[in-house]
Amino acid sequence: MAIEAHKCNQPECKGFVLIENADFDLKDIPLDEKYGCYAFDRPHCSECGKEFLVVPHYIVIEVNDKDFSEWEQIESTCMTQFERRQRELKMLSS
Ligand SMILES: [Zn+2]
Repeated sequence: MAIEAHKCNQPECKGFVLIENADFDLKDIPLDEKYGCYAFDRPHCSECGKEFLVVPHYIVIEVNDKDFSEWEQIESTCMTQFERRQRELKMLSS
């Protein structure tokens, strides 16, 4: 089971977008009703809550308009970075 982390692209946001790619079946991609396209998942940023879409093949995008004429792929990162950030947050809140 693999969890992939991506960096949120929101300015000032240090959050992460996590996806678990083990559950995805490339032959059976669900149709996302909200965006009307094929997407595996609709993850949210761990901090600002911004919504993203996971589309084949495991890229995470921000949809700027519903016709998909405008979208942006966000930067992938690693779980270590995410865990470091979570520890940072814990320290800040205690
Ligand atoms: Zn964010």
